[in-house]
Amino acid sequence: MAIIINGKELAAKVRADVKEEVEELKKRNIHPRLAVIMVGNDSSSAVYVRNKSKACNETGIEFEEFLLEESTTKEQLLNLIEKLNLRKDIHGILLQSPIPKHLDIKEAFDAINYRKDVDGFHPINVGKLAIGEDCFISCTPAGVMKMLAEYQIQTEGKQAVVIGRSNIVGKPLAQCLLNKNATVTICHSKTKDLKEITKRADILVAALGKPKFVTEDMVKEGAVVIDVGINRNEEGKLVGDVDFEEVIKKASYITPVPGGVGPMTIAMLMTNVVKAAKMLEN
Ligand code: NDP
Repeated sequence: MAIIINGKELAAKVRADVKEEVEELKKRNIHPRLAVIMVGNDSSSAVYVRNKSKACNETGIEFEEFLLEESTTKEQLLNLIEKLNLRKDIHGILLQSPIPKHLDIKEAFDAINYRKDVDGFHPINVGKLAIGEDCFISCTPAGVMKMLAEYQIQTEGKQAVVIGRSNIVGKPLAQCLLNKNATVTICHSKTKDLKEITKRADILVAALGKPKFVTEDMVKEGAVVIDVGINRNEEGKLVGDVDFEEVIKKASYITPVPGGVGPMTIAMLMTNVVKAAKMLEN
C-alpha cells in the first residue's frame, strides 16, 4: 500500500514558512504585495482569485485585486500591466486566465515584467528554466517538486514519465525533473503505446485532465504516482487523472485528489511572491 502524500498538510507548512519570511521582510520595511488582474466574470476564476486572496491574508502578503470588465480593450489591459510593472510597491503580478476571447493572453503575459512574473509564464522565465537558471517556476510544477523533496523522493537517475505537455504543467514539470537529473519522457495525445511507456516509470505524473485515466495496469510496482488532474465525475465529485483506489495498492507514494497537488499550487504562488519581493528590494 502506498504512502499518501499529504498536499494539504505540506501546503500549510509552506504557508507557515512564508508567513515567517514575510514577518522578517516587514521588519526591513519590505511589504510583499501581489496584484491580481481578472478580466470578465468567469465563475471558476472568481473562486481561484478568492483562494489566492485568502492565502495572501494568511501569510501576511498584501493583496490588490483589479477586476476589469468583459469589454476591456487590449490597450486598457496592457496599460494596467505597464502601470503595475512600474509600481515599486507591487512585487508580483498575476493575470488570471481565462480572459475574454478578443484579448490575446500570450501578449498580456509577455507584457508582465518577468521579475514580477510570479506565475512563471513569461518566456524569459520559461527560457531560464530550460537552461537551468534561477527563475520563477510555474506554481503547479514547483509544488510537485516541493512534494518530492519534502518526502525525500529521489529523482536522480530515475525514469520519470509525464503525461501532458501543456505550457503551465507538463512541459515545465518535465524540465524541473530533468534539471534534477531524472531521465524524462513526455507523453501526449499522439503518443503511441502509452502503457508500455508508463509501465517503465519510477515517477509517473498524470497531468492530462481525464478522470481515472491512469489505471493500475499502467503503473510499475513501487512507482511514485503524482496526480495533477482536477476533474469532476458524474456525481460532481472532484477526481484526479489516476484511479486512486486501485493504483494505491501498487505505488510506493501517491497524491490524492483533492488534497494533493492542488493546495501546493497556491502555496508555491506565495513562495514566488516572497522571492519577487526579495529580488526587487535587494
Ligand atoms: P491541457 O488540457 O492544457 O493539457 C492536457 C495535456 O494532456 C495535453 O498535452 C494533451 O496532449 C494531453 N492529453 C490529453 N489526452 C491525452 C491522452 N489520452 N493521452 C495522453 N495525453 C493526453 O491541461 P493542463 O495541463 O492545463 O491541465 C491538466 C490537468 O491538470 C487538468 O485536469 C487540470 O484541471 C489540472 N490542473 C491542476 C492544477 C493543480 O493545481 N492541481 C493546476 C493546473 C492544472 P496534446 O498536447 O497532444 O493535446
